[in-house]
Amino acid sequence: MEHTLSIIKPDAFAKKHVGEILSRFESNGLTIVAAKVKHLTKDEAEEFYAVHKDRAFFNDLVSFMISGPVMVQVLAGEDAIKKNREVMGDTDPQKAASGTIRADFAENIDANAVHGSDGPETAKTEIDYFFNPDEIISI
Ligand code: ADP
Ligand code: MG
Repeated sequence: MEHTLSIIKPDAFAKKHVGEILSRFESNGLTIVAAKVKHLTKDEAEEFYAVHKDRAFFNDLVSFMISGPVMVQVLAGEDAIKKNREVMGDTDPQKAASGTIRADFAENIDANAVHGSDGPETAKTEIDYFFNPDEIISI
């Protein structure tokens, strides 16, 4: 059983795709073991995406992530990190395989509907960033 952090980004939240996106996780064998709706502050978004701070898109990414509420969730399942990345699709929705969340709900690489941890270490750091252990159910 593995855990991963997922965020439904401001574009998908504003377009009321939360229910459909959560349904994609569940129908692909992932279980939502923690969740909250949150409007990130600039400091929070900058800290969360600190790994990208030297990239040209960093300021645009932070501005986008604080442009509206998001839903943050912990997903659990066998191979959850890789499974979630598959269900999400490529970072660029133009390249995302059909049937993936980004192919179906994202407009462009800036507003691409979801975030998902990319490995075991980032999953742990990102989950700890948003949730206390007692907010995550055991399954
Ligand atoms: P992913 O979200 O698929 O893990 P990255 O970690 O590489 O992708 O990038 C984090 C986020 O930064 C992306 O989801 C996207 O919103 C944004 N981003 C990445 N690359 C670009 C780019 N070339 N131009 C604009 N935004 C980008
Ligand atoms: Mg990433």
